[in-house]
Amino acid sequence: MVVVGAGGAGLAAAVTAAENGARVIVVEKMPMIGGNTLRATGGVNAAGTKYQQAMGISDSPEIHYQDTMKGGYNKNIPELVRTMVNEAPKAVDWLISLGADLTRVGISGGSTNARSHGPKDGSAVGPEIMKALKAAADAKKDQIEILLETRATEILMKDGKAVGIKAQGKNGEIQVNAKAVILATGGFGANPDMVAKYQPRLKGFDTTNQPGATGDGITMAQAVGAALIQMEEIQTHPTVVPKKGIMITEGVRGEGAILVNRQGKRFVDELQTRDVVSEAILKQEGGTAFLVFDQQVRDNLKAIETYVKQGLITEANSVEELAKALKIDEKALAATVTAYNGFVKAKKDAEFGRKHMKGALTKSKFYAVEVTPAVHHTMGGVRINTRAEVLKEDGTAIPGLFAAGEVTGGVHGGNRLGGNAVADIIVFGRIAGQNAAATAKSK
Ligand SMILES: Cc1cc2nc3c(=O)[nH]c(=O)nc-3n(C[C@H](O)[C@H](O)[C@H](O)COP(=O)(O)OP(=O)(O)OC[C@H]3O[C@@H](n4cnc5c(N)ncnc54)[C@H](O)[C@@H]3O)c2cc1C
Repeated sequence: MVVVGAGGAGLAAAVTAAENGARVIVVEKMPMIGGNTLRATGGVNAAGTKYQQAMGISDSPEIHYQDTMKGGYNKNIPELVRTMVNEAPKAVDWLISLGADLTRVGISGGSTNARSHGPKDGSAVGPEIMKALKAAADAKKDQIEILLETRATEILMKDGKAVGIKAQGKNGEIQVNAKAVILATGGFGANPDMVAKYQPRLKGFDTTNQPGATGDGITMAQAVGAALIQMEEIQTHPTVVPKKGIMITEGVRGEGAILVNRQGKRFVDELQTRDVVSEAILKQEGGTAFLVFDQQVRDNLKAIETYVKQGLITEANSVEELAKALKIDEKALAATVTAYNGFVKAKKDAEFGRKHMKGALTKSKFYAVEVTPAVHHTMGGVRINTRAEVLKEDGTAIPGLFAAGEVTGGVHGGNRLGGNAVADIIVFGRIAGQNAAATAKSK
């Protein structure tokens, strides 16, 4: 069988298919594997895991389901969400069995409970997962071959069934004949024309996505009769460094950072869903805000070290000094931080009703980074069923064609919760791998 795209969904599918006895060719158009998965920083959501239990967090797939539906404004396809929340804990265990460290649990926006799993030291989740998947693929070298710089251009069909792909390789066009095809090409966040076509209000926005996220799988699937769903549902991430496209993970807010405007004032519950926080930032002077945190937050989250190394973070010995460096009112920022620390102590945010306030911002040094929203996740895509089969407009499956990950639509509805994308891609990547292997065997 052939898998198009070597990100998280593609490699999860390839490894699972190989575990089920299949021989797999993976084509990847970029010179490296990983896709957007390699950029994932925050975590992977799963509810009811032993890692949550060890931290005294009581959670369940049912609460995860309710949060996901609410976060997506109930536009999500319920059976796809059920599959994701029920299978996510097994997906985490599977990744751990392949060598990934996902034992740390944090909170992300829109989640009732902390359920975002990542490495113990707070480092980024994507590289950790890709390392484990790559090692698993390498260990099955006799079954899995990965072709880099090989861009799929067309799905080959015979008698209404998918039977392979055409691709542009390093040395010209190739054809891969296969008993099943899995599309795992990711979303279209790095295709500004496609973004503007489906969501005109996002014309001209920057993106957090890798350059290969251009929606190829969606276009190829549509050409063979696949139905598309919710293409206009495109998420912006609220905290992206202006003009640089570097995303500051939601984990920073999860660990206690606040957002302030140029008047030095908070203006939103920082852990609201991404659409709400994005909109609130765009309403502030200049359409940007400052993410402000202290040494304790930095100590708790290793991902912050990368931002410091990248020269993105302003630091100061006091809140007043920080305000000066940011050219905002010193007294106003000091008053805001003092008021917020009071809310933490009282366990009640009297201003914006923020529920998760990890700790007071009192430990010097103090830090800030300017942020603005950018295109982050394309929630729409190819319509699939719970077996990851690609569906036509009439709801029937296209035989031999499967899809998983951000190329698909419907799991996240009108707004994706932080940590749910990685859950989605691993869960449906594994399902696609399993079912495609079974299809290949039966032929
Ligand atoms: C900066 C950033 C941080 C994120 N953090 C998180 C997080 O913490 N938690 C979370 O849940 N989600 C997060 N997300 C979202 C999540 O990472 C993605 O939704 C997810 O990784 C997509 O996985 P995928 O396998 O579907 O696609 P990708 O990982 O993007 O892989 C798709 C691959 O297909 C390749 N490809 C595309 N077209 C073709 C073609 N024609 N032929 C061959 N190959 C092709 C691409 O080059 C790419 O390598 C983040 C996203 C970004 C951008």
